[in-house]
Amino acid sequence: MSTANNLKFDALDLSKELLTNLASLNYHQMTLIQAQSLPLILEGLDVIAQSKTGSGKTAAFGLGVLQKLNVKRFRVQSLILCPTRELADQVSKELRRLARTVHNIKILTLCGGTAFGPQVGSLEHGAHIIVGTPGRVEEHLRKGKLDLQNLSTFVLDEADRMLDMGFSETIDAILKYVPSVRQTLLFSATFPREIEAMTSKIMHAPQRVENTETHSEDSIQQYVCRLEDEEDRITALRLILLEIEPESTLVFCNTRKQVQEVANELVAANFSALALHGELEQKSRDEILVRFSNKSASILVATDVAARGLDIDELDLVINHQIAPEQEVHIHRVGRTGRAGNKGQAFTLCTKREQFKLDKLEAFLNTSLEQRELANPELLSKPTFYPTMATLQVDGGRKQKVRPGDIVGALTGKDGIAATEVGKINVFERCTYVAVTQTKAKAALKKLSEGKLKGRSFRVRRIRG
Ligand code: ADP
Ligand code: MG
Repeated sequence: MSTANNLKFDALDLSKELLTNLASLNYHQMTLIQAQSLPLILEGLDVIAQSKTGSGKTAAFGLGVLQKLNVKRFRVQSLILCPTRELADQVSKELRRLARTVHNIKILTLCGGTAFGPQVGSLEHGAHIIVGTPGRVEEHLRKGKLDLQNLSTFVLDEADRMLDMGFSETIDAILKYVPSVRQTLLFSATFPREIEAMTSKIMHAPQRVENTETHSEDSIQQYVCRLEDEEDRITALRLILLEIEPESTLVFCNTRKQVQEVANELVAANFSALALHGELEQKSRDEILVRFSNKSASILVATDVAARGLDIDELDLVINHQIAPEQEVHIHRVGRTGRAGNKGQAFTLCTKREQFKLDKLEAFLNTSLEQRELANPELLSKPTFYPTMATLQVDGGRKQKVRPGDIVGALTGKDGIAATEVGKINVFERCTYVAVTQTKAKAALKKLSEGKLKGRSFRVRRIRG
């Protein structure tokens, strides 16, 4: 696997239409985990693949699934299970991108948190590939709405996370509806013992590939800030933020309670910060992730569980507000920055009482983290920085057939704003979020509220911190 030639997609047994599309997506070569797993997957073997978040696991199983698919046979041929709705949405999105050149392919997402009835309707129209969360998929099977008798590939994505969330029994229940002759693929960032037990139960002679290398040293600069005691923590966090003024920062805390406290403190100090933890309603979670990824919120404070697997590129800075409970978790946290060829920075706050944890971490990393002095506390009286973008929410989505193009059209028409002032657009089932530059938010709000989309007017509001 070491020569560059082996990383070329066209060395694989992939159809011409898939290869053409990969080139148009600028996927010029395979990532390591793709190079390790795809040849085995294309041979039809059961594969266990372990690698860190952001290493391209979706395309690894996605290309396997697409290559094997017979579009003319209008039956469910692949089932991909994901732990959460947003991960399922990400997988569907990536699959659709990979399948752009495959005509008439039907990929259906089945997740909880949305109405059951319309999903039954979609299933009646048929699908080739189902992407879903275990609970909802099991419900469709139990109620006889989903037929998996023709399934040939079964994929478990983020398997460790699904087990963490207690989906083991649900997955067992789903397997009762799945043919025993099939290909099973399992993807995971970590490989705890429960997974090993599960693989021996549900997989046939699995091939295991792993790529646990950490990021190249020069893409992420890691620092440690030493603190006297607990009281200094939030001040240190504020000083780091004020000194660097990063566009996007992910702050990790070890508990849900700390997440909420830190976010509150930051907001009280006038930062644009949001809290992400497992207890939020799906709708609030979606909104928070949208606002952070479209750069209308600068700081996301999160627990490890809540942030796992989320594909947020272009993070400038990761801060470990507390040292991670395990060394592997630290590596995952820090690996969120410095992705896709960008440079990143990671700071770890460490009080005297945590010294032993730092020692353990440094021993694990086999290096000592560079120590960084905090900026002068005078900086605290400096005004905070603001995000460049603002988010508008339109109360119409896929259901109302709203598409990103319609929004851009409505915003940039007569007396509108320039297309360059429009940022990310996220269309959901019943609402759409549009990022526009902060300075044009008022004009954009007016334009959208007064104009028409799909021949009708929609309610539009600006989401404020
Ligand atoms: P993982 O599931 O391992 O966390 P993803 O599948 O979400 O990672 O991929 C991370 C990002 O890398 C995605 O934005 C994806 O589009 C991109 N990507 C995947 N494979 C390639 C490739 N071969 N070349 C370039 N970009 C890729
Ligand atoms: Mg993934």
